[in-house]
Amino acid sequence: MPEPIRKIVVAGGGTAGWMTAAWFARLLHGTPVEIVLVESDEIGIVGVGEATTPYLHVFNQVMGIDEDDFLRFTRGTFKFGIEFVNWGGAGRAYHHPFGAPGRDYGPLPFHSVWLRHALANPSDTLEAYNLQSLAARHGKFMRPSGANSPLADLTYAFHFDASLYARYLRQISEAAGVQRIEGRIEQVRLTADGSIEGLSLNEGRSVDGDIFIDCTGFRSLLLGEALGVGFEDWSHWLPCDRAWAVPTARDGAPLPFTRSTARASGWQWRIPLQHRDGNGLVFASAFMNEAQAVDQLVANLEGPPLADPRLIRFRTGRRKKVWEKNCVAIGLAAGFLEPLESTAIMLIQKAIAYLQYLFPDKGFSDADRDLYNADMGREYEVVRDFLILHYRAGERRDSDFWRYCASMSIPDSLQNRIDLFQSRGRIQEIPGEQFRIQSWLAVMWGQGLRPAAPDPLAMTLDEAALNKWLAEMRDVIARCCDYMPSHSDFIAQHCAANLTV
Ligand code: FAD
Repeated sequence: MPEPIRKIVVAGGGTAGWMTAAWFARLLHGTPVEIVLVESDEIGIVGVGEATTPYLHVFNQVMGIDEDDFLRFTRGTFKFGIEFVNWGGAGRAYHHPFGAPGRDYGPLPFHSVWLRHALANPSDTLEAYNLQSLAARHGKFMRPSGANSPLADLTYAFHFDASLYARYLRQISEAAGVQRIEGRIEQVRLTADGSIEGLSLNEGRSVDGDIFIDCTGFRSLLLGEALGVGFEDWSHWLPCDRAWAVPTARDGAPLPFTRSTARASGWQWRIPLQHRDGNGLVFASAFMNEAQAVDQLVANLEGPPLADPRLIRFRTGRRKKVWEKNCVAIGLAAGFLEPLESTAIMLIQKAIAYLQYLFPDKGFSDADRDLYNADMGREYEVVRDFLILHYRAGERRDSDFWRYCASMSIPDSLQNRIDLFQSRGRIQEIPGEQFRIQSWLAVMWGQGLRPAAPDPLAMTLDEAALNKWLAEMRDVIARCCDYMPSHSDFIAQHCAANLTV
């Protein structure tokens, strides 16, 4: 008879390790299941991962996290989306906002009627129909309020200091009963059937358990190294494999959005926090060497650096399985997709949610593992396709890197979406998928893809009535934006950190 699961061992205490430990500590509170987390201060955490998606609200709500308290602690700000500068072509910019633009026109979805209008009126912008976009542009922020107006549907995420976030999660986890062990894992001991029996730590200590969650970061010490699960490399589609990261001082108000600026062989991020900006250059080493990249990053900073730039090397792809035997990998140990759409923390949450759904009580079932691997595989693939779209769909051809992106082959799943859009402006939406129609629309349109013709049913609408309807929508959104306080006033009033601490 298989033994009951009585001890969960989380290996690694970055964002992935602490989010997993906190979640299961809450879920299993009052049961005989014990949760132990092993981490090494000497090794440390990757220390980036500062921009999120609105999915983090789910985690905060389940954990009972007070949002103002969390932002104060992590010196966080609010995020309405991402501004993409120079991606579609030099000198062009667009916003990928959270939340849906506009409303549907009776039975016709917003995007099909708007595309009809926009194809005939190229100066119209999608931003005018999305309150998040407009508020971001004007540096405004508030939480949803009221009813029957776009203010009620405001959708936002956060920026925060990654090291402070790990500390915050640690506090929550330890308060919920997670036992933290400081130590370096030196060996992963296996049983005769190849499952993990325990971890041997420095100073002769060991930690045994029933299920092991590998959150050891890029190294994937348990799943990758000890269990030998291979890696599926996606760098032919996403060739960036390095990042330089550096914080800078900021003079002025933090903007309520992440900025991503395309560069010659990659892109640069800027993430505004209360006390500093996070910056980094993600680049492809096949097209630009590390020295050139750091020079380019430093030359394009908007404030004085607060530390020396730090190099992070990575490989894009995912483990062929993320659950093998009695080991589940979560976070960087499971795979990596560059942070262009801030999706890694969201994928950590997905991994936790699927594991909760399939959490074992006694032994392990192949059916559970297979479902978990299939579900997580799909999650990574959808994000992968969405990221490739940014590189593939633009009009940049001004460097070897961009010429490579323009000519590389892409997954059939993405090609099908592009074909569908370029024909009649149709957008595939798969139930449960993180990126909804509005995200695909914002990026496809923003990158410069255009349908050959509008949806034929949208062409049956009366043009004057449609123009009036769209003008009214723009007007309501503009008035809502005027009403909103500034992002910095909102922070000052609700969640300003004590920066003298
Ligand atoms: P890590 O933070 O690396 O933690 C690994 C843990 O394992 C550490 O505690 C370490 O001490 C421990 N460990 C390792 N080996 C041992 C050992 N032998 N013994 C004991 N302990 C060990 N994500 C987003 O959502 N938004 C972003 O904006 C974003 N930006 C990013 C930018 C870059 C350049 C990169 C590389 C990633 C970014 N990410 C982003 C991803 C994000 O940083 C990670 O998903 C997140 O931090 C989780 O990391 P982790 O916990 O898996 O790994």
